[in-house]
Amino acid sequence: MYWIHADPIMMFAPIAAVEGGIAHELSHISMGQTLSPYKREQEVKLSQKDLLYRTLDEIATDLDVIRRGGIRSLYSFTVFAEKNKQRKGILTREDGGLSLKEIKGELSHH
Ligand SMILES: [Zn+2]
Repeated sequence: MYWIHADPIMMFAPIAAVEGGIAHELSHISMGQTLSPYKREQEVKLSQKDLLYRTLDEIATDLDVIRRGGIRSLYSFTVFAEKNKQRKGILTREDGGLSLKEIKGELSHH
Protein backbone atom coordinates (compact mmCIF):
# COMPACT_ATOMS: atom_id res chain seq x y z
CA MET A 1 0.00 0.00 0.00
CA TYR A 2 1.23 3.48 -0.80
CA TRP A 3 0.34 6.88 0.60
CA ILE A 4 0.80 10.08 -1.32
CA HIS A 5 0.95 13.02 1.05
CA ALA A 6 -0.06 16.32 -0.50
CA ASP A 7 0.91 19.67 0.97
CA PRO A 8 -2.35 21.35 2.13
CA ILE A 9 -1.63 24.28 -0.19
CA MET A 10 -2.49 21.94 -3.09
CA MET A 11 -6.17 22.53 -2.18
CA PHE A 12 -5.70 25.92 -3.85
CA ALA A 13 -3.86 24.60 -6.89
CA PRO A 14 -5.37 24.26 -10.37
CA ILE A 15 -6.51 20.69 -11.01
CA ALA A 16 -3.80 20.25 -13.67
CA ALA A 17 -1.16 21.04 -11.03
CA VAL A 18 -2.67 18.47 -8.67
CA GLU A 19 -2.59 15.94 -11.51
CA GLY A 20 1.06 16.79 -12.18
CA GLY A 21 2.06 16.30 -8.56
CA ILE A 22 0.22 12.99 -8.33
CA ALA A 23 1.65 11.85 -11.68
CA HIS A 24 5.15 12.58 -10.36
CA GLU A 25 4.55 10.56 -7.20
CA LEU A 26 2.94 7.68 -9.10
CA SER A 27 5.97 7.63 -11.36
CA HIS A 28 8.24 7.26 -8.31
CA ILE A 29 6.11 4.30 -7.22
CA SER A 30 6.05 2.76 -10.69
CA MET A 31 9.81 3.07 -11.10
CA GLY A 32 10.36 1.61 -7.64
CA GLN A 33 8.28 -1.43 -8.50
CA THR A 34 10.79 -2.41 -11.20
CA LEU A 35 13.42 -2.93 -8.46
CA SER A 36 13.90 -5.89 -6.15
CA PRO A 37 13.05 -5.20 -2.49
CA TYR A 38 16.79 -5.07 -1.71
CA LYS A 39 17.55 -2.57 -4.48
CA ARG A 40 14.51 -0.50 -3.49
CA GLU A 41 15.81 -0.30 0.07
CA GLN A 42 19.28 0.68 -1.21
CA GLU A 43 17.70 3.38 -3.37
CA VAL A 44 15.83 4.86 -0.39
CA LYS A 45 19.09 4.96 1.62
CA LEU A 46 21.00 6.57 -1.26
CA SER A 47 18.25 9.13 -1.78
CA GLN A 48 18.38 10.11 1.87
CA LYS A 49 22.13 10.65 2.04
CA ASP A 50 23.22 11.62 -1.48
CA LEU A 51 21.89 14.90 -2.89
CA LEU A 52 23.20 14.19 -6.40
CA TYR A 53 21.53 10.78 -6.45
CA ARG A 54 18.26 12.33 -5.24
CA THR A 55 18.45 15.11 -7.83
CA LEU A 56 19.05 12.61 -10.65
CA ASP A 57 16.19 10.45 -9.36
CA GLU A 58 13.86 13.47 -9.38
CA ILE A 59 14.88 14.35 -12.95
CA ALA A 60 14.38 10.73 -14.08
CA THR A 61 10.95 10.77 -12.44
CA ASP A 62 9.92 13.98 -14.22
CA LEU A 63 11.17 12.55 -17.53
CA ASP A 64 9.06 9.44 -16.89
CA VAL A 65 5.99 11.64 -16.34
CA ILE A 66 6.74 13.37 -19.66
CA ARG A 67 7.26 10.01 -21.42
CA ARG A 68 3.81 8.95 -20.18
CA GLY A 69 2.20 12.08 -21.65
CA GLY A 70 1.95 14.17 -18.49
CA ILE A 71 4.03 17.16 -19.52
CA ARG A 72 1.21 19.73 -19.33
CA SER A 73 0.20 18.70 -15.83
CA LEU A 74 3.87 18.54 -14.76
CA TYR A 75 4.31 22.04 -16.13
CA SER A 76 1.25 23.28 -14.22
CA PHE A 77 2.54 21.63 -11.03
CA THR A 78 5.98 23.19 -11.45
CA VAL A 79 4.51 26.66 -12.08
CA PHE A 80 2.43 26.31 -8.91
CA ALA A 81 5.43 25.02 -6.94
CA GLU A 82 7.55 27.94 -8.17
CA LYS A 83 4.89 30.44 -7.11
CA ASN A 84 4.80 28.89 -3.64
CA LYS A 85 8.45 28.01 -3.23
CA GLN A 86 8.94 30.32 -0.26
CA ARG A 87 6.72 27.94 1.68
CA LYS A 88 8.54 25.32 3.69
CA GLY A 89 7.22 21.92 2.91
CA ILE A 90 7.10 19.19 0.34
CA LEU A 91 6.16 21.53 -2.48
CA THR A 92 9.51 23.29 -2.69
CA ARG A 93 11.18 20.84 -5.11
CA GLU A 94 14.49 21.97 -3.62
CA ASP A 95 15.99 18.55 -4.18
CA GLY A 96 15.70 18.67 -7.91
CA GLY A 97 13.48 17.64 -10.73
CA LEU A 98 13.33 19.45 -14.02
CA SER A 99 13.26 23.25 -13.85
CA LEU A 100 10.39 25.27 -15.21
CA LYS A 101 12.66 26.39 -18.07
CA GLU A 102 13.54 22.78 -18.95
CA ILE A 103 9.89 21.68 -18.89
CA LYS A 104 8.94 24.70 -21.03
CA GLY A 105 11.63 23.64 -23.51
CA GLU A 106 10.18 20.12 -23.61
CA LEU A 107 6.67 21.53 -24.05
CA SER A 108 7.70 23.11 -27.35
CA HIS A 109 8.30 19.57 -28.69
CA HIS A 110 4.83 18.30 -27.70
ZN1 LIG B 1 9.92 13.28 -6.55
